[in-house]
Amino acid sequence: MFVTDQLPHRVDGSQSWRGGPKAAQEVQLQLSIMATAQTADAAAVPWRQELREWLEAHAPRDLRGPDELGTSEPHRAWERTLYEAGYAAIHWPQEFGGWGADALARMIFQEEYERAGAPDRINIQALMLAGPVLMQFGTQEQRDRWLMPMLRCEEVWCQGFSEPGAGSDLGALRTHGRVDGEELVINGQKIWTSYASYSDWIFLLVRTDPQAAKHAGITWVMVDMATAGLEVRPLRQMNGSSDFAEVFFTDVRVPLWNVVGGLGDGWRIAMAALNLERGPGRRSYVRYLRNLNTLKSFVDSSGMTRDPSVQEDVGDLFASVMAYRHYMSRVVDDLRSTGDSDVARINKLYWSELQAKLFETGMGVLDERAGFLDDGDSIPGAAAWRNEYWYSRASLIFGGTNQIQKNIIAERLLGLPRGGS
Ligand SMILES: Cc1cc2nc3c(=O)[nH]c(=O)nc-3n(C[C@H](O)[C@H](O)[C@H](O)COP(=O)(O)OP(=O)(O)OC[C@H]3O[C@@H](n4cnc5c(N)ncnc54)[C@H](O)[C@@H]3O)c2cc1C
Repeated sequence: MFVTDQLPHRVDGSQSWRGGPKAAQEVQLQLSIMATAQTADAAAVPWRQELREWLEAHAPRDLRGPDELGTSEPHRAWERTLYEAGYAAIHWPQEFGGWGADALARMIFQEEYERAGAPDRINIQALMLAGPVLMQFGTQEQRDRWLMPMLRCEEVWCQGFSEPGAGSDLGALRTHGRVDGEELVINGQKIWTSYASYSDWIFLLVRTDPQAAKHAGITWVMVDMATAGLEVRPLRQMNGSSDFAEVFFTDVRVPLWNVVGGLGDGWRIAMAALNLERGPGRRSYVRYLRNLNTLKSFVDSSGMTRDPSVQEDVGDLFASVMAYRHYMSRVVDDLRSTGDSDVARINKLYWSELQAKLFETGMGVLDERAGFLDDGDSIPGAAAWRNEYWYSRASLIFGGTNQIQKNIIAERLLGLPRGGS
């Protein structure tokens, strides 16, 4: 595993060159392996090429985030284009407008999507979490109300789980929902809510029975962001963006109809939803190969191509990216043959540490050319790299911190006793 608890360091360009022409040939070899890997993929499944061409023709490139643009409309428009082409959510079952695509097709979709440099998906919380939860736990009326607007990106969703004091220990959440006739009256606060500033709906976990045991008495409810008493306060990040927000609830009245499952059923549903996040739908090795190519351009322009420590770092990263590729193939094989994959539990830990190491290495190579906070591009790609570097630090936290991931691996994959027992 990579060590990521380090600040970006300057790679010491003064070290003597020990690699010689042989190491230089190895760099060339690595790059040609990248090309081979991409060519081999192309033949894997017939529709890959078709998808690749469609994305080449339609995907917007270099689309900045909604916060930077001050509007989510270009992202919504792109989602509608995906929907019209049938690509909005290929993993959804056919009866709900998807293809019922299996794990292999999902992996290929993700690889091609990343290869094309297409924008991050704005409605990911709906397509990966809220939608599948409705399919599994919602009533037919709830599915009819919410699923198609998710697929067509007419309604963007965000996830309201974390609270101050309830992150890793989600069961400690205190936002409260009191039943009043046919309504739930919600009071409390959520935090770190990604996409909240431009979302139309939020799915929430609220405590509806304060007397019940910690993980009982929690309810999953869908809330219209325009409801009176709901206030979004964007959080300013150190890179200047506001990708997430605090969301405050003061006597927010929501129809009981919006409760998914039953009152008190929220913990079971949330655990099922978080399990859905495993699998091949979120990241592929391709994005890291793209990043490696950018890193290579930084190395070239810094005159560090002969620095042995840089060679070693880039070589390590390349090996890790390729290992991730083969690891994902293993997950896909497991999912296709048994419907589950134990080793998928390693996924988030692996890619987030790989990503953090990658961007940290690039920051070391860029050194002062990386700039600071919201400086512009000192060399092509430097500002984007710096932003990705900060985001790569966040990826060690969101979706369950890596310490928690390690606990899960130790307890559920390796069968070690729970901490403290
Ligand atoms: C970029 C980003 C986007 C996010 N988006 C959302 C979102 O859309 N919706 C949402 O609901 N939440 C979101 N979150 C919140 C995220 O889920 C939480 O930050 C995360 O679960 C950690 O909770 P916490 O911040 O309260 O840290 P804490 O839980 O307080 O943890 C603090 C530290 O203690 C460690 N720790 C805690 N418990 C243990 C333990 N049992 N064993 C070992 N170490 C432990 C943690 O690993 C961490 O290092 C987002 C976070 C980030 C960074």
